[in-house]
Amino acid sequence: MQGILTTAEWSQLQNALDERRRAQYVRILGRDSLTLDLMFCGKCRAKIYRWHNKDTGKTYGRCRNELKRSEAAQPCNMPPIPYEMLREAVVADILMQRRSHRNSHDGRYPQAPG
Ligand SMILES: [Zn+2]
Repeated sequence: MQGILTTAEWSQLQNALDERRRAQYVRILGRDSLTLDLMFCGKCRAKIYRWHNKDTGKTYGRCRNELKRSEAAQPCNMPPIPYEMLREAVVADILMQRRSHRNSHDGRYPQAPG
């Protein structure tokens, strides 16, 4: 080890470690999540993480570069998006893809509901 951290550097380090712990927490929560590997930020193309707000009890999708601002090379300013909205968007997207896949390859399958 070399040198002594200034107070600012020390708190920066603590923030980074804290953000990392938080990110791990989000990944564990999101393991069964439908959207986790499918959603990307429209602004910076980073992955969208599932994030639970303890104060409101609601779940949001947050851009990695916004959530892990202290670690991001280019911090993002995308606001958190209600998770249900993301889920609906992804489900709609998947159903649409399946529908067009079926239509183009095999018309015998019934249409997906909705
Ligand atoms: Zn972003």
